[in-house]
Parts: sequence; C-alpha cells; structure tokens
Amino acid sequence: MHPDVVVIGGGIVGCSCAYYLAQAGLKVHLFERDALGSGASKAGMCHLVTWEEPKIHLDLARESISLYGQLAGELKEDIQFRQTGSLSIVESPQSMPAISEMVQRLHGWGVAAQMISTQEAIQFEPAISPAIAGGVFYADDAQVNPLYATVGLSMAAREMGATIDPYTEVTAIELNPGKSSIRSLQTSRGRIQADNFVLAAGAWSGVVGKMLDLELPIKPRKGHLVLTAPLPTDRFRVKTIFSAGYLESVKGSENIAVSMNLQQTVNGNLLLGSSRQFAGFDRTVEPHVISRMIQRTLSLLPSLKDVFVIRSWAGLRPYTTDLLPVIGKAPQLENLYIAAGHEGLGITEGPITGKLISQLVTGHQPAMDIDCLSMERFQLKN
Ligand SMILES: Cc1cc2nc3c(=O)[nH]c(=O)nc-3n(C[C@H](O)[C@H](O)[C@H](O)COP(=O)(O)OP(=O)(O)OC[C@H]3O[C@@H](n4cnc5c(N)ncnc54)[C@H](O)[C@@H]3O)c2cc1C
Repeated sequence: MHPDVVVIGGGIVGCSCAYYLAQAGLKVHLFERDALGSGASKAGMCHLVTWEEPKIHLDLARESISLYGQLAGELKEDIQFRQTGSLSIVESPQSMPAISEMVQRLHGWGVAAQMISTQEAIQFEPAISPAIAGGVFYADDAQVNPLYATVGLSMAAREMGATIDPYTEVTAIELNPGKSSIRSLQTSRGRIQADNFVLAAGAWSGVVGKMLDLELPIKPRKGHLVLTAPLPTDRFRVKTIFSAGYLESVKGSENIAVSMNLQQTVNGNLLLGSSRQFAGFDRTVEPHVISRMIQRTLSLLPSLKDVFVIRSWAGLRPYTTDLLPVIGKAPQLENLYIAAGHEGLGITEGPITGKLISQLVTGHQPAMDIDCLSMERFQLKN
C-alpha cells in the first residue's frame, strides 16, 4: 500500500490534517505512537481563543472556530463545541491602561472585546472576588472537548478511507539518494513509502526532525491542570474565566509561571489551570505547582474552597520562541510539510492547520497568507 500522504502524530493537529487531506480525496495513513490525543491534546483545556495577538493568531482562530462550527455538524461524536464567551479578570488598577490599549487594538481587527468595571464583572459572574480592578468580556470565545474533537476527526478521516494507526511509532526516516525528499518511514510495525509526509508530532517534532538532520526549534513547555468533581452546570454564568496576567505567563521566561484559568466543561467538571515551565519531556505532576494553581484560583474565586479535586496531570505544549506555529513546506525537502509548534493555542488552531496543510499538499493556494509561519523564519540547519 502506497499512500499519498503519511501523517506523523495523532494529536488534534495530526488528526485535523488527516481529516482534511482525506476530505480532499487523498489516500492518508496516520501514525501515532501511543493512543490518539495522548500528547498535549488530551492534556489541554477546552478554550477556543479569539483575541490572542499577533494578528495571524486572530486570523487562524477565526477560521478555525468557523471550521469547528461545521465539524460540530459533520462529525458523528458530540465534540461539545459551544460559543460561551470568556471573561478576563484584571487584578490591579495599574494594568488597566495597557489592557484598554490592547482592547482598542483588538477592536481595530474586529474582535468582540468589551471592557467592563469591577461591578459589571461581578454581575457577569457573582463568584468572582470583589477585590479586582475590572475585566474584559470576549463574546466570541468558545469551548470544545479537545479529546472528543481529536478522536472524532480521526474516526471521520477513517470513514473517508484514511488508515489510522495508533500505538505505532515512527522510528527512522529514509531520504531519497539526492537527499531532497523523503523516501520512506520506518515504524515500530514496518516500513512505509509515500508521496508526501506531514510532521505533526507536537512537542516531539524536534525529535522527529532530528531523524532527518532537520533542526526544528520546537521544545516542550510543561503545563499542569487540575480537574474537579462535577458541579451543577449553572454554577457559573461565564464558563471560561481567566486572569489577564495569563498573557505574561505565556510570554515570560519565569522558571515556573502560574496563572488562573477556570473552565467549566459541558459535563460540569471544572478544569483549573494552568502553569508553564521548561522541564524537558518530564510529565510528572509536581504537587507544589498544583498547590500554587489552586491558591491562585481561590484568591479570585474564594467560593470554590469546598470543591473536590479529583485528578491532576501535566502535558507538553509545543513551544516556539516567537510563539507562532510552523505551518508550511519544509525547506530543502520537496515532500515534507510541517504542522507543529502551536504552544497554548493548538486546540484553537487545529482545524485550520489541517485545512491549510491539505491545501498545500494538493497544490492549492492556501486560504490565508501564512508566509510568516514558514520554517524559513528560523535560522535552519539542514
Ligand atoms: C495545560 C494545557 C492547557 C492547554 N489549554 C489549551 C486551550 O485551552 N486552548 C488551546 O487552544 N490550546 C490549549 N493547550 C495547547 C494544546 O493542547 C496544544 O497546542 C495542542 O494539543 C498541540 O497539538 P498537537 O497535535 O500539535 O500535539 P500533540 O497533541 O502533543 O500530538 C502530537 C502527537 O505526536 C505523537 N508522536 C510523537 N512522536 C512520535 C513518533 N515518533 N511517532 C508517532 N507519533 C509520535 C505523540 O505521541 C502525540 O500524541 C493547552 C496545553 C496544555 C498542556
């Protein structure tokens, strides 16, 4: 069997690629070394973010959320997609001018962002501590269940003829004699040849890149989450509430950055996040990080002190130094495409990434200008 495209990695990005490539009529084969979604995609929260700068993120998010709307109708599984809005809490009055400037910029790009006072924030969500300076309501933010979306995409791709092989690791990559293209992959279950290859191995993309002597500047950025027992689904008026200081934790280089982010899922459980740290590929849960996250949550939502925590885990975001994903053709290898490096926005940007990769592989003009996402922006050693 000789597929048109092999996809390496079965997270939200790889499964989106498989889905849109199969929909474009190509013969697809996806390899995932573990269970589908078992990397960052199962570990992530459910927030679809419409306001993260720079503008390319806004464009990707807008297109992707529109695709999620379609997928909610197309996929057999309920992916729990819903337009929830989100509330960003500004804790100190000194931060308000910078937040107000950001909101002005976002308005210029058509983002539905509304500055609100402390009083209005509490009216929006009475559980919030009154000791805050104000907030921003983002009406277009949404939620999806990342694992259901990942698995749903893979099952739909399979129904369109794709072969989806979990528990199959790509262990080596063989180039053609001129070294200008990939010839075959060695997997834990045999060798496979194909016309095109998509690297969508999330935080491990750099490791897979090394099999090709390709220096891909993507590294793991660990993030912890806490899950509580389900609460009544009407306990929170706003289903996603986070501290505006979250942005500093994304951009910062602090050893362990912790910010407050609460999301109530469709099932009623609360996801409490999150943290950011560089710790290699270690996914061990660190109790002192969990404890800091819970303290941050209680400082802004004190009424949660009686809620039961039932589980905690850590996952690895695929980090790039400029916090932008790599979506495009690999330089110097004619048949390799990269779809990786989405850091904390991979759930949001998964579907559009898959769609763009399918347009590139089939030789169509991508639906949006993605030159700034190419690998050429890094100093690459090949
Ligand atoms: C705590 C936390 C909270 C988050 N919250 C959000 C959020 O609210 N909204 C949002 O948009 N994003 C969020 N994210 C980010 C999001 O989860 C990631 O950006 C996204 O899951 C990346 O998807 P991916 O498919 O690129 O990577 P992954 O899901 O990691 O998939 C890559 C896959 O490749 C496989 N693989 C690796 N090497 C090989 C190999 N050699 N052979 C075969 N398979 C291989 C891995 O096993 C893995 O399953 C969060 C992340 C974390 C950690």
